[in-house]
Amino acid sequence: MRVLLMEINQETNTFCATPAVLEDYKRTFFAEGEEFYNRVHGKQLCLGGMIDALEEDGIEVIPGFGIRATAGGVSASEVYKEFETRFRRIATECGTIDGCYLSFHGAHQSVDSDDVCGDALVLARELFGNEVVIACSCDLHGNITKKMFDNADIITAYQTYPHVDHYNTGYRAAKLANRLLAGEKLYMAYGRVPMIQPANGYSTSEGKLLDVMQALFAKVENGTIEDFSAFQMQPWLDVIEGGSAVIAIGKNENAAKEIVREGLRKMWAIRHDMVRPNNTIDEVIAAARTHAEGKPVAVSDFSDSPNAGAAGDNFDIVAEIMEKAPDVKIAGIVNDPDLVKECFRRGVGTTFEATIGGSKSPEMSKSYSVTLTVCSLHEGSFTIEGPAMRGVVDSAGPTATVKIGNADVVVTSGMSTTGDPQLLRHFGVEPTLYDVAIVKACTSFRVPYGKFADVMLSVDTLCASSARLAEMPFKRLSREFYPFTDCEHPKQLDEIYCK
Ligand SMILES: [Zn+2]
Repeated sequence: MRVLLMEINQETNTFCATPAVLEDYKRTFFAEGEEFYNRVHGKQLCLGGMIDALEEDGIEVIPGFGIRATAGGVSASEVYKEFETRFRRIATECGTIDGCYLSFHGAHQSVDSDDVCGDALVLARELFGNEVVIACSCDLHGNITKKMFDNADIITAYQTYPHVDHYNTGYRAAKLANRLLAGEKLYMAYGRVPMIQPANGYSTSEGKLLDVMQALFAKVENGTIEDFSAFQMQPWLDVIEGGSAVIAIGKNENAAKEIVREGLRKMWAIRHDMVRPNNTIDEVIAAARTHAEGKPVAVSDFSDSPNAGAAGDNFDIVAEIMEKAPDVKIAGIVNDPDLVKECFRRGVGTTFEATIGGSKSPEMSKSYSVTLTVCSLHEGSFTIEGPAMRGVVDSAGPTATVKIGNADVVVTSGMSTTGDPQLLRHFGVEPTLYDVAIVKACTSFRVPYGKFADVMLSVDTLCASSARLAEMPFKRLSREFYPFTDCEHPKQLDEIYCK
């Protein structure tokens, strides 16, 4: 048996002004063949899990091509074209294969298509036919379209948010698909609810969504089904066809359908309970004055989260704390490539007047005039602390650490994996030495920061990943969608597909 591995992976935020071009992908991950294998094998990534599941079952791995970018704007045409050209060539070169397993985000939009993942699955079917097993792994925030369901035999998603199970999600997809390769019959059932939720408002480690996940896990543990995925559609994705899906995979067709029906009803029932109250700067300052020594207040600037496709260039929280409480020690972070260049030009130890913030999305983020001192300059690579993606090397691009009053601010050229403390630590800003640590992440920071933060608060600065979804400029997504409208029983609750 031989299985080809492929990846096309980005989380699109339609409201992000800057399109994602091929260069953005090349910076994060762009590899073919042996290089592709070497960069994912043994890593806490979906493809790492897929490779281990294949090798455990004695199936030959054919490393194909992978292209991955951090969350950002709508992908340019050249991105999918590059993937398609390579996929077609690899399909003619790889010889006969029995399966094709792909790593997706699941909420991937391009200027040409609302559904890049669906297109990639259709292409895989066209290239290899119906006899080949096609499986894919997705983010919990994927938008699983009917096209994806129709063209994949197996779909799995992260079962954690904050996401810490990338490896296991790929492993699950491959293990289930390997069973199909071995001749077993498994049914996959699927349905959706018309719902988007602000991604900072819920997690799978507490609250009502945890209850839903536990109820579904119980169905796997008692053998009713083999696997489930419960998606919360990426809420800043403006597409015609969308929804928060449930997928159940099992040996019994009716059981799989019934679990999807139950999962959808449970998700719909908690729709009013998935919003986290926002905090004010006064509340942040009050917490900063009372926090335990060595345990900072972690403040999520979640609406400016590059993990969710926002620009990461907003400086409002730091500026407002400095104005109201100049004695509070702040560990800050901001994306500002122009300021980084200026810091490199001036050098370590220099003090000068500069503007900070609003460098990438001035329509959403203000610029501030400050006096700053350059503390250190960096090339920008750092190793992710995790637990999610631990050991993976990421880059924030050329980076400067600057001092502004009582704030030490990491100024990056292009931050990603923003929930990871190494984004501060690696650049000389140790969060436990401050009163407040600013995090440009919705939820991913809650696992690593939860280990040392006194309290975790969140402030909405109204950037591209704001929780105020009803105020965002959706043009394509139906208005028959929660939270735009609400009803007791949307008709989608009864539209369950199974194959
Ligand atoms: Zn996600």
